[in-house]
Amino acid sequence: MPDIDWREPSSIDEALDLLARYGEEAKVLAGGTWIALVLSQGLLAPSLLVSLHRIAGLNNIAIDRDGSVHLGPMVRLRQAELAPLVRERLPVLAATLADVANVRVRHQATLGGNLCDADYASDPPAMLAALGAVVELTSRRGTRRVSVRDLIVGHYATVVAVDELLVDVVVPTLPGGTGASYLKFRTRSHEDRPCLGVAAVVRLDPAGRCSHAEVVVGAVADRPQRFPDVLAALVGEPLDPAAIGAVAEAYAARIDPISDLRGSAEYRRQMVRVFVRRALRAALVEAS
Ligand SMILES: Cc1cc2nc3c(=O)[nH]c(=O)nc-3n(C[C@H](O)[C@H](O)[C@H](O)COP(=O)(O)OP(=O)(O)OC[C@H]3O[C@@H](n4cnc5c(N)ncnc54)[C@H](O)[C@@H]3O)c2cc1C
Repeated sequence: MPDIDWREPSSIDEALDLLARYGEEAKVLAGGTWIALVLSQGLLAPSLLVSLHRIAGLNNIAIDRDGSVHLGPMVRLRQAELAPLVRERLPVLAATLADVANVRVRHQATLGGNLCDADYASDPPAMLAALGAVVELTSRRGTRRVSVRDLIVGHYATVVAVDELLVDVVVPTLPGGTGASYLKFRTRSHEDRPCLGVAAVVRLDPAGRCSHAEVVVGAVADRPQRFPDVLAALVGEPLDPAAIGAVAEAYAARIDPISDLRGSAEYRRQMVRVFVRRALRAALVEAS
């Protein structure tokens, strides 16, 4: 590995100064589970690593007055999975995180790192996108909020600029009458990344018709996949097997899947059909 300078700022301001000064030359270090691999493979060669470990408060989990749950970027996946607040308010997120890798990786890996590495075969981005989560990005130039749906723009690429830090993940609590599910499908070991993962959220009105539907499919393309027009067609309709089947068919037809060691494009297309249907059914059972 080349010589890399290392800084451990004790405040966000100090970290932002370093990122602004070093630009492309600097990389943020969170849990290090992803960046250690790409550095050792020579895929990245920064001259400075800016560790977030000494900055107080970045691993907080809290709830605000409107009921949204705030997760700091240094919250470990295991920490969020076990946090009473997450388990109580967002059990589907706790369950999604519990399905990532193995317990050793989850003790080390952070939520901010998982979102910012933008690996196509990740679990949390699809679930957070389905839940309508937003992230807060800050830099010396100011602060902005970006929906998780717009965060990842391609393979290992996000809208986070080189001088920006992700400082908060804000997840709205689901209103009553809402059901949510995340189904992860692996084709290799139990600890592997997904061949695909489907996150579904549905809400029913008092008459039992769909008032909100969200389906996001992860690990099948360069970024999580969702089709707002397909979902909008469900609103006001009963979520019967025909309607659910139509969404599964539409997602299978419109996603252009990748091929990798976990499955060919054709296999993934078949599995999208199967798992979108199952995830919607599971969310519906919970909503009812
Ligand atoms: C064996 C193994 C199995 C795995 N299986 C799965 C799986 O099943 N599902 C899954 O979803 N993931 C899986 N992963 C990936 C794992 O979840 C990620 O490696 C991890 O979440 C990255 O977090 P980190 O804190 O280690 O990030 P780091 O490696 O520290 O950083 C990752 C990237 O994000 C940037 N970054 C980090 N924090 C910030 C921030 N706050 N602001 C701006 N940029 C930031 C870094 O600069 C770097 O580019 C697996 C990893 C391993 C090693």
